[in-house]
Amino acid sequence: MTDASDHGAPADAGAGFLTGPPPELPADQAALHLELLGSRFRALVDHVPAIVYVQPIASGPMIDVSPGIESLFGVPREEWLRDPSVWQRLIHPEDRTRVLEANRIADETGGPFREEYRAVASDGRALHIRDQSTLVRDAGGMPLYWLGFMIEVTDTVATQRELADATARYGALVEQIPAIVYVDIVDEDMSTSYVSPQIDALLGYTQQEYVADPDLWKKMLHPDDVDMALDAYLRGREAGGPFTLEYRLVARDGRVVWFRDSAVVIHDGDGRPKFVHGVMLDITDRKAAEEQVAFLAYHDKLTGLPNRTMFEELLELSIARARRHELGVAVLYMDLDDFKLVNDSLGYDAGDELLRQLAERLGEATRETDLVARPGGDEFLMLLADLDRSPAMPGGTDGGSIVAQSVALRVGQTLASPFILGGHEVYVTASIGVSLFPQDAIDTASLMKNADSAMFRSKKAGPGGFVVHADDDADALSRLSLSTRLRKAVENKAWTLHYQPVVTLEDGRMVGLEALIRWQEPNGGLVPPGEFIPMAEEMGLIEAIGDWVVEEICRQDELWRIDGLSTEISFNLSPRQLWQPELVSKIIARLAHAGMDPSRVVVEITESAAMTDPDRTQQILLDLHDRGVRLALDDFGTGYSSLARLKHMPVDVLKIDRSFIREVDADRDAQGMVSAMIALASNLGMTALAEGIETEAERRFLALRGCELGQGYLFSRPVPAGEILALHRRASLRVVDGEAG
Ligand code: C2E
Ligand code: MG
Ligand code: MG
Repeated sequence: MTDASDHGAPADAGAGFLTGPPPELPADQAALHLELLGSRFRALVDHVPAIVYVQPIASGPMIDVSPGIESLFGVPREEWLRDPSVWQRLIHPEDRTRVLEANRIADETGGPFREEYRAVASDGRALHIRDQSTLVRDAGGMPLYWLGFMIEVTDTVATQRELADATARYGALVEQIPAIVYVDIVDEDMSTSYVSPQIDALLGYTQQEYVADPDLWKKMLHPDDVDMALDAYLRGREAGGPFTLEYRLVARDGRVVWFRDSAVVIHDGDGRPKFVHGVMLDITDRKAAEEQVAFLAYHDKLTGLPNRTMFEELLELSIARARRHELGVAVLYMDLDDFKLVNDSLGYDAGDELLRQLAERLGEATRETDLVARPGGDEFLMLLADLDRSPAMPGGTDGGSIVAQSVALRVGQTLASPFILGGHEVYVTASIGVSLFPQDAIDTASLMKNADSAMFRSKKAGPGGFVVHADDDADALSRLSLSTRLRKAVENKAWTLHYQPVVTLEDGRMVGLEALIRWQEPNGGLVPPGEFIPMAEEMGLIEAIGDWVVEEICRQDELWRIDGLSTEISFNLSPRQLWQPELVSKIIARLAHAGMDPSRVVVEITESAAMTDPDRTQQILLDLHDRGVRLALDDFGTGYSSLARLKHMPVDVLKIDRSFIREVDADRDAQGMVSAMIALASNLGMTALAEGIETEAERRFLALRGCELGQGYLFSRPVPAGEILALHRRASLRVVDGEAG
């Protein structure tokens, strides 16, 4: 509605559209228009559910209006056509100023006018009116009159208001609950059309960031949950029903947040899935509580160590794995001697403290992969898994048994220093029983029982010792005394060296010897190094043994030289020996004393020993090398050398481990690896040496690949010194067609 009569601007003020005197509209032209309107549109105008009106551009009452105006406002049509102020009187007082102002602007500019306002009918009904009008001009562009429409939109407005209310209500809900609400679009990208702002506080990403990157959810998924969560989501979406999944997301700052995500799939009219609406609830606290409960079920409260239940479950798993891979498992059962004394004299708090400190020391005495548990009281359990079952030599004690005994020994040593309990120094000892899979028992219950009874036997034998369970008690006693016997062997120097020839692979010529130690038992047996070197290291006896080896080599070399044999001799250093202070100067002094040229001596250290503390090792090796000693990297391929390291180590010989050679006949991978190792040696300027060659086929393969040197039963087993001269005299140690070549 425009009402020029009421816009307040004087008719002749300024330069507005209608500010000049109203154009002299020829009366017949206006009449013509109205007539046209009347004849052609009257029927239409009278029946559309809207009020059509014609308003003069100058002030004054309506020129024409649909009859419906009467029922809408309850004001007779005649009054509208007579009184210009009806309209503004009907506008709701709160909307009146705004509407009249809009009206004035339309008048001034030539429109259009478009407003929604409330009105009050003469009977008091509240109405919502949408009102718009346009200025109609003649062919020359001269304004003629305003043509307008009024529609009642009361219902629509009510609906919209409800909608707005609802949106506000649910919006508040969606954006206040402690969860993330999202709307995903069902598409290939799994893109998101809405996510609630809580995402910021919970995960550190803004709504915009999340919506902009359809992959963000996937990227945030915890690596361990990615597959499971994606799969569950896609399957849930596919199935079309409500679905729930639980997963972890990694927030921007690295925090891990657990979510329970409950979603529903929304379908369109044709039943096609359109959206996934979901709520992601933060359940991190609940998960932590669950984990705490699980932890308590499996752990000892006092020390935090695993309890018996967990120990037995892990033992079960270890046994299964050991069966599959032919490995060994050891169970150590430890019981403190006279723990009651501590409780009785210092009180239970001190007793608890002792157990806690003990738990810590046991962790230090065992290997990182071992499990220490506390079944209760003053008892502790240790599980040593994945033990090597193979004996170092046929018929010898297996590696697992040796590891178990050295751990038992180390635990004993750990207890040697006093515990400080409330200012008191307390000394304790413990008895340990050892049971081994598969030697003693092959199931969890029997292993536990045997370890327990071995522990009791150890207790009977006196405090502070260990017993390896065996069916034969005599055998158990002989094993118990391994450490004692070893100490005696060091005293008596009960050692001997065997020598294994190093040969050229091309023609089998002997070019050197490797010295390998054996322990001569009083009963005449020879114990291979794999059975006592680890124990000797544990007991701190390796230094004495190593000294003896160098001395013996010097002595033997002198004898051979008299007989005309002057060859290269290598000997082995074990990892612990590398840490000895003065190692290098001691070796050099002894060689000098015997008049042995250092360049005929090769020191072998294993790859894994070299790489354990490479900086330090490199220093020792450089030191040795500078003094003319040659160096070999033993068991190459079993450790984890860094090539960069290797390049800078002054190594002369790379000894490819026996385990690869054994496989070259059958395994293409092994062939590839051995070839690569030979090439590596050559590239680094080292000589490749293959260990443990047993067949002619292996020799041929290696020779063909350019491996220069080898050792192995094919040429000769390690033999006593007395047999070496005979081997030396042979032109070739290679056996061809069953004969010495
Ligand atoms: P290693 O230095 O790698 O020595 C090679 C081992 O393989 C020797 O075992 C040898 O007898 C064996 N061997 C040689 N040729 C063949 C073959 O064709 N087939 C098979 N199946 N085996 C073969 P041994 O003498 O029992 O020595 C075991 C390990 O003990 C040595 O491995 C070395 O690391 C260590 N060792 C030997 N002597 C000493 C020593 O005086 N001091 C130290 N610290 N360690 C030593
Ligand atoms: Mg060696
Ligand atoms: Mg080796």
